[in-house]
Amino acid sequence: MDQKVSPATLDARSLPAVTEAAFAALGPAFFTRLSPQPVPAPYWVARSPDMARELGWAEDWWRPDAALELFSGNRLPAGSRPLASVYSGHQFGVWAGQLGDGRAILLGETRDRNDQALEVQLKGSGLTPYSRMGDGRAVLRSSIREFLCSEALHGLGIPTTRALCLTGSDLPVRRETLETAAVVTRLAPSFIRFGHFEHFSHHGLPEPLRQLTDFVIDHHYPDCRAAANPPAALLEAVTRRTAALMAQWQAVGFSHGVMNTDNMSILGLTIDYGPFQFLDGFDPGHIPNHSDHEGRYAFGRQPAVARWNLFALGQALLPLIGAEDATLAALEPYLGVFEAEYARCLAAKLGFAQASGRTTELAQGLLQLMATEHTDYTLAWRALSRHMAGGPQEDLRAHFIDQAALGAWLGDYQALARQAGAEHSPEHMLRTNPAFVLRNYMAEEAIEKAKLKDLSVLQALHAVLTRPFDEQPEHATWAGLPPDWASRITLSCSS
Ligand code: AMP
Ligand code: MG
Repeated sequence: MDQKVSPATLDARSLPAVTEAAFAALGPAFFTRLSPQPVPAPYWVARSPDMARELGWAEDWWRPDAALELFSGNRLPAGSRPLASVYSGHQFGVWAGQLGDGRAILLGETRDRNDQALEVQLKGSGLTPYSRMGDGRAVLRSSIREFLCSEALHGLGIPTTRALCLTGSDLPVRRETLETAAVVTRLAPSFIRFGHFEHFSHHGLPEPLRQLTDFVIDHHYPDCRAAANPPAALLEAVTRRTAALMAQWQAVGFSHGVMNTDNMSILGLTIDYGPFQFLDGFDPGHIPNHSDHEGRYAFGRQPAVARWNLFALGQALLPLIGAEDATLAALEPYLGVFEAEYARCLAAKLGFAQASGRTTELAQGLLQLMATEHTDYTLAWRALSRHMAGGPQEDLRAHFIDQAALGAWLGDYQALARQAGAEHSPEHMLRTNPAFVLRNYMAEEAIEKAKLKDLSVLQALHAVLTRPFDEQPEHATWAGLPPDWASRITLSCSS
């Protein structure tokens, strides 16, 4: 691999600096040191003012020319000793062997305003020893999708890796067609995946496995340290977080598309945005990824797949936990946590402060009707919220075909809402059921313009998605049904 191009270290006091990531202390078994590979003539595509504020950076942090060089991988921030980490994983249910950061490079870490350490990673920054057959690059199209969607999920209150900015270059990158390169700067407390644990376990390396587990406990799950069996406590904590994340995805209608174990965050964050999709018409069988022929990662299967992935993590941790029954016990809370959290989310979507058997039954009744009719998921929930907040019933009815079934359901629902009194809140519904989600066609509109160097749609969409619960009448078309051509968009793993 060509490592001759070593970006000059930047020495500009006004520019963001990083410190060595704590992860680096794990040692060379966990990563390879290397620098990003430069791209020609980088340009700005997008920045997140929210993320910059969270980091306590000045509003014009990006103005120096050198900032652009830095976030395209052409120069290193002061203090950076970059690295790419190694992991393995199961892809589509099959052991895939060694993977790793094939196109991501960890620059180091920075601290947000609350003094929380955040790793800073460039994605699309060139070849690494883990690139396998890939070119180390990410295309503008998929990078815009990642940037927008991580901002969108954050705006919805769903745990995710964050995006700080996105730069582009006219460097040609071959996918199905010739595209151009982009680099996303992502941040997270940790980018460690289930696959990192699987890597050392599968290769029979108990010492690094123990080191990694201790590292994750000490830095991210300190409460597990006091447990009788800390690795088992870690597995249980990850199980709980992952179950809660799945409930949130299902409630908002988010389909990840590629839930391989190397795309599962040990912190329960949404990570690695590829052929994801927010549902249009409600269909539990919907498969967002056209390369997923079996529908393994269909929308409705996500909770079961996450559980399967947790079992893979459990298998990896078994040598440290020491006993199969303790491993199974740590995984055991999954279904209960998922069901309780999903019931809570559904109750909240219906405006109830508390979930009960009745709220779950009502929600399931509505979901059943929506599944039969392929009702637009986001629009129907939002229309219900508006109606409960005093809007005309016709606007809700317009989303359904079987008016008698909807009428009967509404009667039951409104009776329960009345009974609940102050425990039912239409305002809460409007803060729970978004007016705006990132539909495929919206990303497509932003991408097509951005390819022509017109960033206006991307900027407008980005701003809309950071406030998804606010009515934004000037963007009413994005709060409506997708256009007909939206159903012809195909997404694959190619990114
Ligand atoms: P993904 O399906 O995008 O999560 O990627 C799975 C694995 O393939 C990871 O190890 C990635 O780093 C690697 N990978 C994906 N695309 C590329 C690429 N263009 N160049 C190098 N590695 C890649
Ligand atoms: Mg991945």
